[in-house]
Amino acid sequence: MSSKPPRYKRYAETTLAEYFKLSSAAELSPAHLPIPVKDIADSHYRIYVGKSHSLAEKLPDSVQERWMNGALSGLLLVGLKVKEIWVSAAEAERSQGRERFTIAHELGHFLMHTDEPTSASMISHFPKRGLGGFFACQEKDIHSATSRQKKWGKEAEANRFAAELLMPGQLVKKLFASLTDLSAAPAQTSALGLREYQWKACITKMANVFNVSSEAMGIRLTQLGLLSVL
Ligand SMILES: [Zn+2]
Repeated sequence: MSSKPPRYKRYAETTLAEYFKLSSAAELSPAHLPIPVKDIADSHYRIYVGKSHSLAEKLPDSVQERWMNGALSGLLLVGLKVKEIWVSAAEAERSQGRERFTIAHELGHFLMHTDEPTSASMISHFPKRGLGGFFACQEKDIHSATSRQKKWGKEAEANRFAAELLMPGQLVKKLFASLTDLSAAPAQTSALGLREYQWKACITKMANVFNVSSEAMGIRLTQLGLLSVL
């Protein structure tokens, strides 16, 4: 059995190492937080990142109607003359953490899925603006806990990429250990014994440091085995 880490983790770690000019993501320190995801997308990958109150209008006319009534959180548009990420302006106003997660999610599609034009959620070959394809991502795909923990599919993979990028595992573990004062002990076992008010305060504090939503932070801690079920 191969011990190669999953694709989303490798892409996130490579992105962080390249952006911060480190030899590996293991050199990340708390000084790199919060991860500047918008700058990574625009200055490192040259993707325009914008906000809009009507994401569906950014799509080709022929498919706009299909997305008009859905609660879209983010879009990725790619083509010969187009490299754009759009996030829902209404959602961004409500939560900067969600806005950042959506940008990271779309960046995940850009890095992992744009060479797979047969994807069900990506429709190819639109002539408008040289657009080659797009991902239209709904709120339920990105921001619901159940979809984020789904094991398969491109939406789940983009969410896992976003979590790895915004909340690098070793930094999450380091901060969690310092907050729970368990750095010298087997953190996992002891941390699971945290009282409810303690872990809620811990999640809130960590969410602030990483500039993500508390929900995303809680899911990440669960993924890393630092907390049991929320
Ligand atoms: Zn998506």
